[in-house]
Amino acid sequence: MNRKPYHLRISPPSAYEIALHWEGLEPRFVTDVRSPHCFACNFYPFGDGYPRGLEAAWRKRLQRCHIIARSAGGSYHPENFLILCTECHHEAPMTSDREIMLRWAREHISHVGKYFLEIKQAIDDAKMEHLLHLWRQDEDDEAADRFLREHHLDFHPHATRAQRIRAITLVYREFLELKQFEREPLFRELR
Ligand SMILES: [Zn+2]
Repeated sequence: MNRKPYHLRISPPSAYEIALHWEGLEPRFVTDVRSPHCFACNFYPFGDGYPRGLEAAWRKRLQRCHIIARSAGGSYHPENFLILCTECHHEAPMTSDREIMLRWAREHISHVGKYFLEIKQAIDDAKMEHLLHLWRQDEDDEAADRFLREHHLDFHPHATRAQRIRAITLVYREFLELKQFEREPLFRELR
């Protein structure tokens, strides 16, 4: 670990140092430095597993994000950094006002909440709310999974999670419409 005083440093602090700094200061960002995650949404991008060692785990799949950019006079002190996942890093408001960024991170929705909103949005966009009552968890899990495989759904490699959810939702809509048709054969004729 770099031990030089921060004002003499010529490189940014490690992600672990940044986490340690905020652990004592802002529980909303880090309550326990032993559990690496994005400060804004609490997500940890596990990918193919958990890297060995805490310092590596903080470094490997999370990003150090300047609060005040270096070009705008921001320092290499850990107080000038947040640890973010890629998605939050892209979304972060980087201004010359430190408080705007900190407030954004404190008020950020959790990744689970965001996931839920993306699903809700996809259902609204597909206008399929009237079909949802047809879903029966116990009997449809496997059938819907099979239906999805039969339709060979694929995604553009750059598609975001929200875009993937929208694509999946459209196939699920077909599944539910078919189910509706099978249960109520006259439904379409009467409509
Ligand atoms: Zn995040």
